[in-house]
Amino acid sequence: MRLFECGTLVPGCQWHTRAEEDAEVVRRAVAHMRSDHGEQIIRETMVENIKARIRNEEKAPA
Ligand SMILES: [Zn+2]
Repeated sequence: MRLFECGTLVPGCQWHTRAEEDAEVVRRAVAHMRSDHGEQIIRETMVENIKARIRNEEKAPA
């Protein structure tokens, strides 16, 4: 799974999302930026910032 934690971009934000595809993670993150951070315009640089912070989620130890 791919994981994006908003706190890596917006300090203090606890929101995070995970999905199989980066594109889906980005889509959800952009929606979150609009609805929770009041971003009217999602710039390409913001999308790049989101993509740069998506990481592989390690499987939790059994
Ligand atoms: Zn956030």
